[in-house]
Amino acid sequence: MEFSERTIKIIIDEAKCEGCKTHACVEACNTYDRGILVLKDGKPAVELSPEELARRGTECLACEYECWFRGNSAITIEVPIKGLDEYRKKYGTL
Ligand code: SF4
Repeated sequence: MEFSERTIKIIIDEAKCEGCKTHACVEACNTYDRGILVLKDGKPAVELSPEELARRGTECLACEYECWFRGNSAITIEVPIKGLDEYRKKYGTL
């Protein structure tokens, strides 16, 4: 499952959510963001339209962090930064 906020993409490998007992992602989303992630059939889900996700998301990254520490590392968040590849090439960090 994947969805986008204004500038980031959240990808959740739902197979890793099987047997997760914490659902820490949903708790983190309700604590630090605006409750975009909800629990549905034992897995994280979104029920808002793409437009509403883009409007409400604060790009806080808490779901990924909490899933690393208390879940099963099921979440990857892509944060594209314009010009980063060129910068890293220029300064030799690639
Ligand atoms: S914390 Fe991670 S493993 Fe657990 S339900 Fe959320 S995304 Fe899935």
